[in-house]
Parts: sequence; structure tokens; C-alpha cells
Amino acid sequence: MIITIDGPAGTGKSSVAQLVAQRLGFDFLDTGAMYRAIGLEALRRQASLEDRRELTFVAQHLRIEFDWEKRPPAVKLNGEVVTHLLRSGEATRAASYVAVVPAIRELLVRQQQQIGRERPNLVTEGRDQGTVVFPKAEFKYYLDARPEERARRRTAQLRARGEIVDPAEILNQILARDQRDREREVGPLAIPRDARIIDTTALSQSDVVERIVAEVKRRG
Ligand code: C5P
Repeated sequence: MIITIDGPAGTGKSSVAQLVAQRLGFDFLDTGAMYRAIGLEALRRQASLEDRRELTFVAQHLRIEFDWEKRPPAVKLNGEVVTHLLRSGEATRAASYVAVVPAIRELLVRQQQQIGRERPNLVTEGRDQGTVVFPKAEFKYYLDARPEERARRRTAQLRARGEIVDPAEILNQILARDQRDREREVGPLAIPRDARIIDTTALSQSDVVERIVAEVKRRG
């Protein structure tokens, strides 16, 4: 059974998907981590982020693997565990360049579909999981929240990590990222036709998790 959870940045998708997977005993796939890993490798190789051919070359010459024994799964880039490096500001920025390259998206879509075949009980999270990667998924969710609330959550998250951040700047980054995510020509952020939309603005993380788990157990 495949459960897709899509939506913009800062809706709590990643934590919700992880907790839902844990509750149901499913595997959890963080597809953003794949875009981030390619971004990280591009930075390490000092590739030009504006050059789609160069980014595609980087993506074609690396290996991304998940260690499914770990919860959440560890991300390996060419055999090296890089999970802890993927959420840095630099990797986040690089990933947003990687995500607009059609050839790279094709490559990752195929890899994600292969993971779906190998790990058939999966909660997968991203921007295009219910629309492009797993259009036949049994359960599809789209999480949303007001941009101000998403910025507030992201600010708290970064501050908890000891980073000094300006909330107004975070809001601007979120709005800019939303726009890029929605406007790209391949795999744009979109609501799958048959998805349930959950507005998480006024909901706690556990409210959202409970709602999804209850529904899957009821109908699954
Ligand atoms: O979700 P996360 O913030 O980790 O995503 C990192 C980057 O990868 C973002 O720029 C996002 O737009 C992109 N992404 C994507 N398709 C996915 C998952 C993430 O384009 N399925």
C-alpha cells in the first residue's frame, strides 16, 4: 500500500509522513532528500547551479541509497551517510536548482518508482508523489498551511538548531520557493485530483497524524 503526502515547504509533511509510517509499520521515503543529496554533490564538485547540463552530469554520476534499517532511513551519497548535511541552508538552496531540471526529475522519478516496487508498504513525501510518481497510490494527501504559519514553524525549527534567523526573511524564502515549485514545467507542486487536502494551520502535528492513520485503518 502506498500513501503519498505532498504539499509546500513548512506544512510539517516530513514529520507527519515519518510518524504515519512509524504507526503503520511502513517504510518512509523522503524524496526531498534525494534532490538535496544531488544539490550537496553539485556543491562539492563546484558545479554551476545555473547550468542544467552540468547538474545533470553530476546527478548521473552519483549513487543515492537509503539504509532502511534506520528509522528514519539514513541517506547515503556514494556510500557516505550524509543525512545530517542535507538540511543546511546551502543544500536547501542547491536542491531548488536541481529540482527544476527535467532530466534529473526523470531520473529520480524512476528511482522512486523502483523503491515503491521494492518496499511496497510506503509512506512517501514530496511535491509530485501523488501526481507523477505514484498516480495509483491507495491514499493521497495534500498538506497545506498559511504561509505565515509555515514561516513561523520554520523559524522555530531553525532557532531550535541554534541558527540566527529573521522571520520576515524566512517568509520571503517560503513564498519564493512556493512560486518556483508551482511554476516549474516538470513535476510542479500541484494537488492530486483524488487527494484529501488537510489545512494544518490550526492543527497540531499529532492531530494530522491521527487523522491520516485513522482513515487508512478504516478504509485500508
Ligand atoms: O521537501 P524538501 O524541502 O526536502 O525538498 C527539497 C527540494 O526538493 C525543494 O526545492 C523541493 O521543491 C524539491 N522537491 C521536489 N520534488 C519532490 C521533493 C522535493 O521538487 N518530490
